[in-house]
Amino acid sequence: MTEASVSLRHDLLIRGGTVIDGTRAPRFLADVAVQDGRISAIGDLTGHSAGQEIDARGRIVAPGFIDSHTHDDQALLSQPLMPFKVSQGVTTVIAGNCGISAAPLRPDMDLPMPLNLIDVPANERFTRFADYLDALRQQPATLNVAAMVGHSTLRAVTMSELDREATPQEIAAMQALVEEAMEAGAIGLSTGTFYPPAVKATTEEIIEVCRPLTARQALYVTHMRDESDQVMQALEETFRIGRELDVPVVVSHHKVQNRPNFGKSQVTLPFIRETMQRQRVCLDCYPYTAGSTMIRADRGMLEGRALIAESLPHPECAGRELDDIARDWGVDRAEAARRLQPGSAIYFLMDEGDVQRILAFEDTMIGSDGIPVGSKPHPRLWGTFPRVLGHYSRDVGLFPLETAVWKMSGLTARNFGLEDRGTLAPGKHADIVVFDAATIRDAADYADPTRPAEGIDAVFVNGRLSWQAGAHTGARAGQVITRA
Ligand SMILES: [Zn+2]
Repeated sequence: MTEASVSLRHDLLIRGGTVIDGTRAPRFLADVAVQDGRISAIGDLTGHSAGQEIDARGRIVAPGFIDSHTHDDQALLSQPLMPFKVSQGVTTVIAGNCGISAAPLRPDMDLPMPLNLIDVPANERFTRFADYLDALRQQPATLNVAAMVGHSTLRAVTMSELDREATPQEIAAMQALVEEAMEAGAIGLSTGTFYPPAVKATTEEIIEVCRPLTARQALYVTHMRDESDQVMQALEETFRIGRELDVPVVVSHHKVQNRPNFGKSQVTLPFIRETMQRQRVCLDCYPYTAGSTMIRADRGMLEGRALIAESLPHPECAGRELDDIARDWGVDRAEAARRLQPGSAIYFLMDEGDVQRILAFEDTMIGSDGIPVGSKPHPRLWGTFPRVLGHYSRDVGLFPLETAVWKMSGLTARNFGLEDRGTLAPGKHADIVVFDAATIRDAADYADPTRPAEGIDAVFVNGRLSWQAGAHTGARAGQVITRA
């Protein structure tokens, strides 16, 4: 076979689409060819042929979306088809956020909230991070994953009680576990100092535990101590940790919540912008004015409307308003919340103006923060990416489609160091989504949160067709992405 004839024959040809390549460059008409899981050619491929051809005329062909912020650690194993993500065009997820990871854990330990949010009892517990990644390799999911180790998980597995700062011995033990996770291929470490298991961790504890990140230039990713009245101090702490370790930091799901703080993104974003001149800072955001987290009974979280997503003692309350439950029970909201624990809830605590400002900020990546458990999850689990493309880019006009795609592909791959992903070019991994820019929209809402998005034609993961015309193909071609 001559070389010319090799290059004319491919596994897959996506014909006649409009390519948005994930770099923010203007769209262009081109055919896209795939061979052995990589993009083999882009351009006018008349005369080329392939075993599988897709007609993409009138459609956008873009890099598969990268969900920068997920809690899919266990779902990748327990729900490996990941319909809630692949149906949106997502091809890669970043797991291990907010201080919570699937490893390392002991088989016999009890998990405090919110560590139990992602734990599936039927699933295996992993004592080493390497065992978790090996399990993902042996039972691949539909999507690619890059995983981080969680600081709260490290505390839970290392410390006898969590309501205090770690001792030097415990810090050394956690450091060794971070080293093991990095060695295995973790791309970074996340903290969740907002949550009880890590509230008592000092800045110094975090810096010392994170020491192994520096040599590998792994990421420090954080659900900050405060996203409300003290958000500026929380940003300062985050940046200080990044500076002392000399590693990139990611401010997770940036927001300013509670009514007195509405509009404060006009202060946080310039501070982030200014800090970016001196050190590496990234941030992500989900496109909703409600958050979702473990059920809490503290005053700040009970300020606005609250919807119960899941309650272990009261599963019948899923989907109900906290107010209605409290009235039926004849108790106040805080008492009702306590009785509903453990579980998760949806809290309406943000301002639409802040959400739009943060989404539109040039360097903001899109991350869902979806929690893949229960029957009434926050709609971001099924709707985040089409909501940004349809509602915020097309309908609201917040930014061009090329920018929207970049915020969920090229920018994210660059920030997380995902080699050869996030853009469409010859030689890159063939993670590709084909969608209709005119009709794409999120169908999931608070009342009906598990409706798949509309307007996604086809999703390819490492060259394998995984979702087409509203149905999963059963493909499980996901790979574990580790640091080079
Ligand atoms: Zn979080």
